[in-house]
Amino acid sequence: MTVDTVLPNTQIPSYELSTDQIEIRDQALKFFMSEFHPLQERMDNEDWWPEHAIPKLGEMGYLGQTVGEEYGGAGLDYLTSSVIAEVMTYANPAIAFSWLGHDNLCLNNIYRSGNEDQRNRYVPKMCSGEWIGALGMTEPGAGSDALGSMRTRARREGDHYVLNGTKIFITNGPIADVLLVYAKTDMEKGTRGISAFIVEKGFEGFRVAQKLDKMGFRGSPLGELVFDDCIVPVENLVGEENQGARIMMTGLDIERAMAVPFAIGIGQRALDLALDYAQTREQFGKTISNFQMIQSKLAEMYIRLEAARSFAYRAIRACDNMPHGETGRGDIHKLTAAALFHSAEAATFIADEAVQIHGGMGYMRETEVNRLYRCTKVLEIAAGTQEVRKMIIAGEMLKG
Ligand SMILES: Cc1cc2nc3c(=O)[nH]c(=O)nc-3n(C[C@H](O)[C@H](O)[C@H](O)COP(=O)(O)OP(=O)(O)OC[C@H]3O[C@@H](n4cnc5c(N)ncnc54)[C@H](O)[C@@H]3O)c2cc1C
Repeated sequence: MTVDTVLPNTQIPSYELSTDQIEIRDQALKFFMSEFHPLQERMDNEDWWPEHAIPKLGEMGYLGQTVGEEYGGAGLDYLTSSVIAEVMTYANPAIAFSWLGHDNLCLNNIYRSGNEDQRNRYVPKMCSGEWIGALGMTEPGAGSDALGSMRTRARREGDHYVLNGTKIFITNGPIADVLLVYAKTDMEKGTRGISAFIVEKGFEGFRVAQKLDKMGFRGSPLGELVFDDCIVPVENLVGEENQGARIMMTGLDIERAMAVPFAIGIGQRALDLALDYAQTREQFGKTISNFQMIQSKLAEMYIRLEAARSFAYRAIRACDNMPHGETGRGDIHKLTAAALFHSAEAATFIADEAVQIHGGMGYMRETEVNRLYRCTKVLEIAAGTQEVRKMIIAGEMLKG
């Protein structure tokens, strides 16, 4: 069976991007297609993580994308970063997934909410790719209700905190050097008793309990983490004690916005593969692209992709216009949840139709279109499920 060899689509629409953004995107696409695209089949088959990927991204200037240049970052806005994420996903979704865990979920949050000492200690090494980052929020009993049901606790003892608890479904967990972890410092105060900590993998009492086996984005390591009397120095408390919920909520809107390009990248790739296949696969003496039912599918895929892309750019641009600390509530909270809801649904639809156009071949695990199909589901689950996104949207609309 042949491996898909479709070349990247150089016609990716760019109406809303500046000349600079288009140039950055096209250069990135070329690099990711030559360096990372060839790795994806082995990553999926063997759940293999290429250790050189993060350092290579650092070397090429693709880490710390939204971090200031004085800390070794690229100083880009979210929209420019999102188009890089889109083409990284297009070329290799699993590397892009780990990039998101590192660059957005962990690094960007430490950069935005950490103090000068924390920025100096952690940000440059994460921008170079020397250290890999992860975010530990979800727990076995605390998913959609991550704040309210959180059981991981941190108690202060002199010059350090002692953390106890378990975090699950943590992207990069098994390979992370640095983790941004949320824990309750005051069990009586509910969501107002949560704090954020920077944990290093070498801290006493921290361990990776297991690497998890997932359906899509395979190769990007996902893990369960245990904190068993884990000693964290007080200097590693991010922000004020009991102010963690605010850090988490402001970060989550940006995380949702930056997950949208994943849906666009997967949707674009699935459409390109389907277009190629429809024009080469022959049945009834002609290519299947001649059949109106196939044309209808391709047209609908394009419509949903372009609608999602327009919504994506609008929501991400809105994040660029928000001062730090002002996300996590109001219009931006609603808009980012809606953009991710819409794009995740579009990507799921497009990948499903792309498999349908590939017929039996699309059902084979080793085809790229099958890999994309297996990736899409998590876009409806992680960073708040579709149901949670609807709760956010309705909640904001119904606020008095
Ligand atoms: C591949 C992957 C990567 C991830 N990476 C990270 C990471 O890096 N860091 C991290 O902290 N977390 C991560 N997560 C966790 C992710 O954010 C959670 O899985 C997600 O928030 C959902 O939580 P849950 O899985 O516990 O589902 P649950 O909360 O148990 O939900 C189960 C179902 O019930 C529904 N539901 C729950 N409450 C309500 C309600 N009030 N009304 C209606 N329906 C409801 C949900 O929508 C869902 O359909 C990752 C998850 C996956 C799968």
